[in-house]
Amino acid sequence: MTGLSNAAKRDIETVLHPYTNLDTFRSTGPLIIERGEGIHVFDSEGKEYIEGMAGLWCTSLGYSEAELIDAATEQMRQLPFGHVFGGRSHERAAELAEKLKAIAPHDASKVLFCGSGSEANDQQIKLLWYYNNAKGRPEKKKIISRLQGYHGVTIASGSLTGLPANHMDFDLPIERIFHTGSPHYYRQGEVGESEEEFSTRRAQELEELILREGPETIAGFIAEPIMGAGGVVMPPQGYFEKIQAVLDKYDIYFISDEVICGFARTGNMFGAETFGMKPDSISVAKALSSAYVPIGAVTIGEDMYQAMIDESKKIGTFGHGFTYTAHPVAAAVACKTLEIYEKRDILSHVRAVAPTFEKRVMGFADHPLVGNARAKGLIGAIELVADKGTKKSFDKAAAIGAVAMGAAQKHGLIVRALAGDIIAFCPPLIIKEDEIGEMFDRMARALDDVE
Ligand code: PLP
Repeated sequence: MTGLSNAAKRDIETVLHPYTNLDTFRSTGPLIIERGEGIHVFDSEGKEYIEGMAGLWCTSLGYSEAELIDAATEQMRQLPFGHVFGGRSHERAAELAEKLKAIAPHDASKVLFCGSGSEANDQQIKLLWYYNNAKGRPEKKKIISRLQGYHGVTIASGSLTGLPANHMDFDLPIERIFHTGSPHYYRQGEVGESEEEFSTRRAQELEELILREGPETIAGFIAEPIMGAGGVVMPPQGYFEKIQAVLDKYDIYFISDEVICGFARTGNMFGAETFGMKPDSISVAKALSSAYVPIGAVTIGEDMYQAMIDESKKIGTFGHGFTYTAHPVAAAVACKTLEIYEKRDILSHVRAVAPTFEKRVMGFADHPLVGNARAKGLIGAIELVADKGTKKSFDKAAAIGAVAMGAAQKHGLIVRALAGDIIAFCPPLIIKEDEIGEMFDRMARALDDVE
């Protein structure tokens, strides 16, 4: 631990860090971020960084939005805690539910709040099981997600996640959760196969899985419009249209996990709109409150709500809920966040700057280290390869993603390495045109260092 600051040493001694190699961390220690302003954060030495990942794909309004701070303060003064159990409520709950229902990309009847994206997807599974019991079809319980998809880390949402690190030695996935192929055309498309043909193949595989398991046993399918943590994987041509047809054929409930793509990230309010998905429900978190406070939610349609009422007639209480469900401070901040998106027309802003963002990401495709570049709205990634022609990956030991991420950090840019060799970009939505330029100039200098 020599050479580390006192703050770093203290951290190593006390904090158990998620998503960290706990062995090597003991000698490298953390980058301690002390404050934020706009799209920038500053470390404990005063060094400035562009937060090119909006934290963890979440601080959509940047790091110094005074209206959110005021909303939290006012709510804390008025009612710092209130719950919505057993007939109690507070006004912020309905206010936020109304706002969410108004923009949801499906016919939403009710909103069930929670504290995070993982909890949201966990709730999705519970609701779907409860619903199918209420409907008298107790065998219809299996849920399908995708390899490389990311849906959280609770026992249930971690099972939906299709990434090895989230399963290995955690004894996941649990029963009744199945994974179908990922939509990563660049990596998994066969030689000579078009995007459209690849999408057809993936839809056929989904159908085969459904038939193998028995269509009457499949309750739901969950997907992110753009896969985030799995590598910023865009749906290939025709993908969701073909998947949707399979889901419709077998009466399978479709959940769009909008935890990253929700709230203007892809150039529409929800990723489902960008890619023509027709979900029955959405999961949201992160940008719902610009991540200033933890909050998540799921929406449900009227049919599910009516079935739940029938269930209450039969068995009584709907036995689910968190102490912090619809926490008033979180709800107040989320209401203010949605109000800001509307009054500052964040959608028009994203649409105005997205072409510059997309052009800059795609510009990296010419770099000798970059095998594939992809971007939509204000989310994108580059995939680093040892050989562009053959798409050969770097040796895992080269830890190329971590090297590029470290180089970016030196040049004052925070990005995220995914799946070993993918570098993700997901800046705060408030980023301006010239800041996008500066962000990618810093990334270009970092890539030159890696060469
Ligand atoms: N769903 C998606 C698409 C996510 O990207 C994430 C987190 O990154 C989650 C769910 C889990 O959210 P949380 O980390 O708030 O539990």
